[in-house]
Amino acid sequence: MWLSWTVGIVTAIAGLIIGSFLNVVAIRLPRGESILWPGSRCMQCGHPLRSWDLVPIFSWLALRGRCRYCHAHISVQYPLVEALTAAVFVLIVWHFGITAETALLLVESGLLILSATVDARTLEIPDTFTFSALGVALVGRTLLLWPAIFNVLLTGLGSLLFFALLGRLMRRLLGREALGGADVLLMGTAGFLLGWPILLVAVLVAALSGLLFAFVSRPFLPEGEKLIPFGPFIVFGILFALFLGQPLWNLYMQLYM
Ligand SMILES: [Zn+2]
Repeated sequence: MWLSWTVGIVTAIAGLIIGSFLNVVAIRLPRGESILWPGSRCMQCGHPLRSWDLVPIFSWLALRGRCRYCHAHISVQYPLVEALTAAVFVLIVWHFGITAETALLLVESGLLILSATVDARTLEIPDTFTFSALGVALVGRTLLLWPAIFNVLLTGLGSLLFFALLGRLMRRLLGREALGGADVLLMGTAGFLLGWPILLVAVLVAALSGLLFAFVSRPFLPEGEKLIPFGPFIVFGILFALFLGQPLWNLYMQLYM
């Protein structure tokens, strides 16, 4: 019992620290800045931040989301990504135990949270992030499932092809980009990571949560800013399906078959 608590607490702390690092990468990498140098600064006044300004979640709460030096607002992205990463890490370790699969899922979820964060900030995801997520899912699953890799390989490739075609079709019908290249790569990642039929749960949850958000947030978005990034919803769908995909699919089969 105490061992599982220790593992949980260590995982949560590791999640907070990695979430804090993902925040830095999400902001600096798309701008072509170095991740390691200079140290963290206030984005408004440029004041270097000390270690007690950088404690995940707690510093943001203690300072009520403002810079200690110039009182500028600090984005809620910081504590959100830290809390989310910690929560997802703990769920993975709790659900999958201390296994090779857990190692794959920790790396993968970090890359996915990073992609979702950048998409939410800038409405695009650098290829480095999406191709890394895709590559890790493909290689990781191949190594873990070898030689029974037929399902995940076919699901991943099929998903890439299907959503690439769907993206082209939507662009022709709508006259604008609705399902970008990054979204297609994330859907492929979902296929390699989840396999068939769990991919269906991820796609359904992504589409429904994205539509729901678009519907609810529409009145609050300023005119001309009606574009909503789809990446965060795909990532939500993948993480949801990772934990609840199989039980939901079993329930569905019992009800309708
Ligand atoms: Zn400041």
